[in-house]
Amino acid sequence: MNKEIDIETLAAGVRNGDRRALARAITLVESARADHRTQALAMLDAVGSERQALRIGLSGTPGVGKSTFIESFGLMLTGQGMKVAVLAVDPSSARSGGSILGDKTRMDHLARDPNAFIRPSPSQTELGGVARRTREAVALCEGAGFDVVLIETVGVGQSETVVAHMSDLFVLLLAPAGGDELQGVKRGIMEIADLILVNKADGDLKAQAMRTCADYAGALRLLRKRPQDPPGFPKALTVSALENEGLQAAWAEMRALVDWRRDAGVWDQTRRAQASYWFTEEVRQGMLQLLRDDPDTAARMRRAEAEVRAGTLAPAAGAERVLAALRDAPP
Ligand code: GDP
Repeated sequence: MNKEIDIETLAAGVRNGDRRALARAITLVESARADHRTQALAMLDAVGSERQALRIGLSGTPGVGKSTFIESFGLMLTGQGMKVAVLAVDPSSARSGGSILGDKTRMDHLARDPNAFIRPSPSQTELGGVARRTREAVALCEGAGFDVVLIETVGVGQSETVVAHMSDLFVLLLAPAGGDELQGVKRGIMEIADLILVNKADGDLKAQAMRTCADYAGALRLLRKRPQDPPGFPKALTVSALENEGLQAAWAEMRALVDWRRDAGVWDQTRRAQASYWFTEEVRQGMLQLLRDDPDTAARMRRAEAEVRAGTLAPAAGAERVLAALRDAPP
């Protein structure tokens, strides 16, 4: 990133929907440098937050067809005149040496669509850090006038919950499976899913996909109903990303859910709760950073941790020692 970034120009570029400006702006918010952080905050402020996109969280284990789905679904939406951005929360990417979405050839049609923007996931290891910056990237895409922001995550644990905190609705993509595999999906993910899409409902897999879908529909009915759901939701549907089947129906369900939530005030309520969540998260992470940056505190933490590890100090007592010192002499 250039040293003398003109924040106003960059923000104006983002607001004009200039994809290169957007890409640079996201690079700026992803930067770990303290001076970049100051600039990033100024830029986010200049971009503003009055524009809203529909934020869709999308999760699924590798191989279920996320890239194929995003490509087909994204092209369907751009075909209807919408602007679509695709971002990823993918803490595993740093380990595998490349990001899931970095491989743009997997969505090459969408990547070449002037109404689409695809951003590879940031190369940081810490989930919390990645998620905070992805959330800001989402805000930048909204400021750039995108209608839909798809936030992709690989269905392996914590990252779903984090993505749910920055999405308006959450879609879980599954592959056809035998009935006994139903248990494999974590209950937590079932609980945050608004829509389960059983992909690959085509050819030889179609019948199996329909059975899987019926199984999940049954499982969803057993989950407690949530106040943020209209009747009939959460739902399970079959789609074929490869053959473009059921995508229109899936979109119609998403629209119906979102319209209902807007009318019921759930949309605003959720966004406010999310803002509060991220505020707390920023403070929490910022405080930890402050402590790590303070040499005395950092040394005290290292010493206490060594004793805790050795079994000579209880975890809570060790923490209290660090905290007591902080109360006496804050950093
Ligand atoms: P990802 O790892 O979740 O991003 O999955 P991909 O989109 O890379 O797809 C994994 C494999 O499943 C590829 O070989 C795709 O061609 C295939 N696939 C994806 N969607 C469908 C579909 O709707 N039907 C069928 N039959 N195969 C699909």
